[in-house]
Amino acid sequence: MADGHTPSCSKNTPGSSHLPGHKGNRNPTRNPHCYNRKDKMALVSTQNMSPLPAIKTQVRLFNTLSGQVDELVPSDGKELRMYACGPTVYDYGHIGNFRTFLQIDVLRRFLRLSGVNVRHVMNITDVDDKIIRNASVAGIPISEYTPQYVNAFFEDLDALGVERPEIIARATENIDRMVELIQKLERAGAAYRTEDGSWYFRLKAFPEYGKLSKKDLSGMEDGARVDVDEYEKDSARDFALWKAAKPGETSWDTAIGRGRPGWHIECSAMSMRFLGDSFDLHAGGEDLMFPHHENEIAQSESVTHQPLARHWMHVRFLLVEGRKMSKSEGNFYTLRDLLLKGYKASAIRLALISVPYRHQLNFTFDGLTEATAAIDRLRTFNERLTRGAFSAGENAEIQAAAKKAHEEYFAVLANDLNTAEARAPIFDLLRLSNTAMDVGKFYQEDREAVQAVLASFDAVFAVFEDRDTEATRMAVEWAEREGRMAQVAPEVLAQQSLTDDAINALLAERDQAKRRRDFARADQIRKQLTEKGIIIEDSKDGVRWKRK
Ligand SMILES: [Zn+2]
Repeated sequence: MADGHTPSCSKNTPGSSHLPGHKGNRNPTRNPHCYNRKDKMALVSTQNMSPLPAIKTQVRLFNTLSGQVDELVPSDGKELRMYACGPTVYDYGHIGNFRTFLQIDVLRRFLRLSGVNVRHVMNITDVDDKIIRNASVAGIPISEYTPQYVNAFFEDLDALGVERPEIIARATENIDRMVELIQKLERAGAAYRTEDGSWYFRLKAFPEYGKLSKKDLSGMEDGARVDVDEYEKDSARDFALWKAAKPGETSWDTAIGRGRPGWHIECSAMSMRFLGDSFDLHAGGEDLMFPHHENEIAQSESVTHQPLARHWMHVRFLLVEGRKMSKSEGNFYTLRDLLLKGYKASAIRLALISVPYRHQLNFTFDGLTEATAAIDRLRTFNERLTRGAFSAGENAEIQAAAKKAHEEYFAVLANDLNTAEARAPIFDLLRLSNTAMDVGKFYQEDREAVQAVLASFDAVFAVFEDRDTEATRMAVEWAEREGRMAQVAPEVLAQQSLTDDAINALLAERDQAKRRRDFARADQIRKQLTEKGIIIEDSKDGVRWKRK
């Protein structure tokens, strides 16, 4: 790659990014001044679990370009270089967007679990048609308009447990690379300038156009142009690489004139900058296949004459309650909407990843409730496994079941990331272990074997660690700042009104009351906590509580 090093916060490499300041955040570590940190939450989060066993697995993934399931391997034998189209920061992300980011997170986590090093680049489109339109409606420059949505995007990723890519590249910090690429395209006869100072890609110069989306684009009119970034197949014609400055719009003064980049050139320039001319995998939502990815291929390959990416992954759209998600249908949800309604971030994560990426997911509130229950069972089981006192020894049946579950889990994920089938062996093992524990036939070595399986599960699914209260608090604080408190469900407000310390203090008081046989007060405290959505469990080991 061109730079020869990975940008990092300390080096402050131009072109990769540093966060704008984030005032009023009570937890600055969640919003560092650099995107490219290794998020501590990104590491395997399951506490008290054995180290992950090294299972080397050959990952196979559907490749849109070849039309079949292909092996996914680093072409340099060392590091899988992947690029995933990031957000356009003109609004808050909706659950359809996050399904894509989560499925890509599943891929990178599973690759790493399988022993593959990953170099993952994600862009942030912080200049495009929609941003310019919205900023101009708000009457502010785009540099003032986008930071709130950049911050919100990363807060949402954190809430959902999505790992940070190794490199995050902002379009506005890579303008020079885009200009260089357009100059190369001109020299290759694939770009031309129009009278107003805009630049277009000449489709006729790239006969392979359409090879990714397999669209029949014959009959296109030579020289006809489209200047918006998003369009349908019928509008496929010469597309804008560079848009001449218009009064009141953000623009850059460059060697090819004053203007701003088209959306498609952004990804071509940034992917090649950080991953080289030809890399292993390019990923994104299915809506990006045409024209965005098709245009990226045309722009890059017209200059390099090599495949931009060997493997292309596309994540399918979701439906909400059986219908296409849309504002007019009233079934359009951002992550924040769901958190404020009282759904847990972990349940949203699980619901969005439990259907394999190539299948259409029907996102439903019943499904969210099911995911909440599944996580509850997993966490309760993990607690029992961790805290339980087991005798030395092993149960051969559990040992065999753990080994089988582990192998099955790896096998189904390695086969085109079948996340739906990956859950089954884990829950089977959970049931079998619970039964063995109930009858005293679960031993110390069984614990280790089962913990190793759970650790592998959580390395990809990442739902054991309970960060849900924190995620909901983030959303409530945001609602407060934005004057959206009417959106917050009453039970969410009630739960958030009690801090962990306050709950522990009340439980200590309840314990005291019981000791002095003041059962009325003890019951009163239990009632008070229950009303605020705190579930209390008395056991012989003491009192435990959790938020509903
Ligand atoms: Zn892109």
